Amino acid sequence: MEKSPYDILFEPVKIGPVVTKNRFYQVPHCCGMGHLRPQAHAAMRGVKAKGGWGVVSTEEAEIHPSSDLAPYVEQRIWDKRDIPALRLMTEAVHEHGALAAIELTHSGHNAINLYSRIPTMSAVDHPINFLYPKQARKMSKKDIANFRMWHRNAALNAKEAGFDIVYVYAGHGMSVAQQFILPNMNTRSDEYGGSLENRIRLTRELLEETVEAIGDSCGVAFRFAVDELKGKDGMQFQEEGKAVVELLAEHPDLWDVNVSDWANDSKTSRFEPNEGYQLPYVEFVKGLTSKPVVGVGRLTSPDLMASLVKKGTLDLIGAARPSIADPYLPNKIKNAQIDQIKECIGCNICVSSDNFSVPIRCTQNPTMGEEWRRGWDPETTKPKISEQQALVIGSGPAGLECSVQLARRGYQVILAESKKQLGGRVLFESSLKGLSAWKRVVDNRLYEIQQNNNIELYKDSELSLAHINELGIENIFLATGSSWRTDGVGRSTRAPINGLDKINVLSPDDAIKDIDALKGPIVIYDDEQGYLAGVVADHLSAEGVKVNFVTPASMVSPWTDSTLEQARVQRALLTQGVEVICNKSIVGGEGYNLIAQCVFTGSKTTIACKTIIMVTERIPNCGLYDKLIEQEEALGENSKKHIKLIGDAEAPGLIADAIFSGHLAAENFEAPAEEIEKAIYMREMPSLK
Ligand code: ADP
Ligand code: SF4
Repeated sequence: MEKSPYDILFEPVKIGPVVTKNRFYQVPHCCGMGHLRPQAHAAMRGVKAKGGWGVVSTEEAEIHPSSDLAPYVEQRIWDKRDIPALRLMTEAVHEHGALAAIELTHSGHNAINLYSRIPTMSAVDHPINFLYPKQARKMSKKDIANFRMWHRNAALNAKEAGFDIVYVYAGHGMSVAQQFILPNMNTRSDEYGGSLENRIRLTRELLEETVEAIGDSCGVAFRFAVDELKGKDGMQFQEEGKAVVELLAEHPDLWDVNVSDWANDSKTSRFEPNEGYQLPYVEFVKGLTSKPVVGVGRLTSPDLMASLVKKGTLDLIGAARPSIADPYLPNKIKNAQIDQIKECIGCNICVSSDNFSVPIRCTQNPTMGEEWRRGWDPETTKPKISEQQALVIGSGPAGLECSVQLARRGYQVILAESKKQLGGRVLFESSLKGLSAWKRVVDNRLYEIQQNNNIELYKDSELSLAHINELGIENIFLATGSSWRTDGVGRSTRAPINGLDKINVLSPDDAIKDIDALKGPIVIYDDEQGYLAGVVADHLSAEGVKVNFVTPASMVSPWTDSTLEQARVQRALLTQGVEVICNKSIVGGEGYNLIAQCVFTGSKTTIACKTIIMVTERIPNCGLYDKLIEQEEALGENSKKHIKLIGDAEAPGLIADAIFSGHLAAENFEAPAEEIEKAIYMREMPSLK
């Protein structure tokens, strides 16, 4: 067989007593399924194993009720009763020749214990990490002994559940082991505090005890955050981070290294465009240990992956998000289908689902999280049912995904777009500061359209009812998108804002078209409270345009908290000189002034303004759909058309929602109504035992 530059990625790696089939390692990542949705969890991890990942890990697995992460839905291994649910996952992973790993976790002051109601414990007395007025108490020697026993028992139970790799976890600010290690946190004066030797004592004990308990047949991995990215106020990789690796170098069978906290580890492309951004922090590790090392950093390029192994930077290519965006990434590299890899766009919608405690979703991969409920797999499609033809109108994310999925199923598709370029809202949004990676949503799908003979493409073709009738196609998917309204109606103001006659009122798209023509003072009014207003403010201020940001919310872009970006968004705006005015609704205008009302007291102030950019609400573009429906209704029983409104035209939302909507419509096309209904009601039922 011909040699490939990527062969090196398919070499086995020994991790203690177990051996991976290749170097592709899905590191632990949250998924909102955990202990509540074990079948969904097993199916999702199983698809990754099928896609070629050599190791597939769980998310954090709580080892004891004193580390209860509710309301977040993580994995649970409190006692033997958790074994059958976990075994579903290990079996699904083993079926495809991959190894299964579990991240044993005691969260210390990162747990609220809302369900168990056990007092929270940590290295020291410490407020818990969530906005809940409660503190963790300092662990006594007895607590430490108990914790070690719970960890050992969990390791034994993990082995019984079929796991091949068991983690000791000290990362993300989310584990008690790390809380003991961190110099600025652990101020204990006993043998578990003070010197670094003392602060790593607990981790050393955990590693030794885990190896002793299950090391005969399982590899023991150590997940360690080498740097907190807080400069001198935290752990730094050049100093204590390095010292920890030196002191524990040969203890684990595998080093899984990253940066802390989660917002730093899972940085979005908006604030960290570079693939492999964590490498400068972790590349020293291999020089200090003979054990294999895995690292992450949104690694999607096979060339970079191969060079990292060749250079001796990493032994295993770690991935959470790239494995979510494309569970088949390893197989695509193996089969020389690199152009077909769906690249992660770094948007963290996957992270937001965990933060909302619902099954994981992904902008690029609409099948993610639907493996069990709907039986979806990104590379396996339901074949067409008949020789029907379909017309898709609009080439935003919904229209593109719908067309591609219909074509994959084998249907003939006509895709019509009124603009010269395909991509809809993604073209606009990806042109803004920090969002260029989002263009991959369009590029990956356009590539597939070009490879597929089933799709006939018509650009620059605005379709009317007459055109549709002329085409005579009976199956019509309307992905006509939505438009930002400019009358001020939004979350807090349900009536149009009056008195703006002198002020130039613009939608976000129009504002960006001709930045030089914008007349100051400029106000961006964010009553949507999503991400876009913050991006527009960031974009304009980076271009040197002075803007004032007004919002009824108490912070800039509150939604971005769920994608781990909010602090970075607000910091970017403030450092670029944007004046941020929170807790104010705009209720009217007077000449060149806006009237702003405090959301708490109702008191009114004025804000000078010549241009206002309204980011408040979107209106679905469903005029064409309404006409079609009206026409069909007039035909009564003679109506033959299948008409489906999808994406933002049905209900404006995230790009991920539009992609999902397009995929779902294509999958449901010609499916029996009962089948469609069944999937909606699918859920994992609680046991009544
Ligand atoms: P979504 O997020 O739902 O995919 P977008 O707003 O991104 O929606 O995309 C909608 C696309 O539909 C835009 O590119 C727009 O130009 C196109 N479009 C809207 N109406 C028509 C029409 N009548 N004929 C062809 N294309 C249309
Ligand atoms: Fe990547 Fe976004 Fe998908 Fe997460 S949701 S895996 S960040 S594309």
